[in-house]
Amino acid sequence: MKLGEIELYPVSDGHFWLDGGSMFGVVPKVLWNKLTPADQKNRIRLALTCLFIKTKEKNVLVDTGIGEKFDSKLKEVYRMERAEDLLSSLAHLGVQPQDIDIVINTHLHFDHCGGNTLEENGKYVPVFPEAKYVIQEKEWYAALNTDEKTKSSYRRSDFIPLEETGQLALVDGEYEIAPGVRVLATDGHTLGHQSVLIMSNAQHALYLGDLIPTTYHLKIPYMTGYDQYPVDLIKRKKEIIKRAVENHWLLVFEHDPNITFAYLTEKDGKRTLKPIETKDI
Ligand SMILES: [Zn+2]
Repeated sequence: MKLGEIELYPVSDGHFWLDGGSMFGVVPKVLWNKLTPADQKNRIRLALTCLFIKTKEKNVLVDTGIGEKFDSKLKEVYRMERAEDLLSSLAHLGVQPQDIDIVINTHLHFDHCGGNTLEENGKYVPVFPEAKYVIQEKEWYAALNTDEKTKSSYRRSDFIPLEETGQLALVDGEYEIAPGVRVLATDGHTLGHQSVLIMSNAQHALYLGDLIPTTYHLKIPYMTGYDQYPVDLIKRKKEIIKRAVENHWLLVFEHDPNITFAYLTEKDGKRTLKPIETKDI
C-alpha cells in the first residue's frame, strides 16, 4: 500500500444504501440497474471508504464516513450496514483517534463527515482531539446557509463543534496540507467540494470524493441528483479525468462497493479502467 514514501490505507465506515434514481440523475433505471441492481425499495449499495494517509510527518484522515448519530428510523431509511466502522478500522491499523493530526473533509454532506464528532454527555465533541479539520471556506459557507434542496444533506452537529474547539481550518482553493498531500478545489457536487491529491516519488493518487463517487460515474452524463452545480461538475470531471489519464494517477473511489483503487488508461481514444488490489500498489 505504498505510494512512494507515503502509505495509503482504505478505512471503512461500513456501507449504506441510497435511492438509485438519486444516484444516477437523468440516467434511466433500465441502464443503471444493470450496473448495480436496486433492492426492493429502489436503493443501491454504496461503500463509505475513507482514506488513512501516513506520511513521514503526519497522520492524515480523509473523510470520516456516516458516523453513529442517526436514530434507528434514519438508519433504516439508509439501510446502514455497520459491520465495520471507522474507529475500529483505524484500530486494526493500530491508529487511535488521538494519533490523527489532520482530518480533511471533501465536503460536509453527512456521509462524508458523520464521524467528525460524537455525542458525549449530551454534547457533540470532535472524535479526533488533536486534529485540525481542513474544509474549504466555500463549503463551510454552503453548510451554514442551506436552502430547501441542500438542507437534508447537512447535519450541523457534524461540523459546528469543530469551530467551538478551535479545530476548524478553513482553506480557499488548492492548498498543500502536509508534504505530499494537497487539496484541489473540485466544485460542482457542492460549492466547496475538494479532492485530495497525494504525491510521492513521482507517483500520484487522487481521492475523488463525490466528484466521481463510484466507477459507474466515470461516464460524464452519469451524475447524481445531489449535484448542486451540474454544469461545473461536468467541466471538473472532464478536466480531472484528463489529468488522471495523462499523469497515471491512481484513483480512489469513496462510494464504490467493489472497486476502491483503479487506474484509468486510454488507447486509441478508448478508456479502460484497471482496478488494483491494495496489495499490488
Ligand atoms: Zn457522498
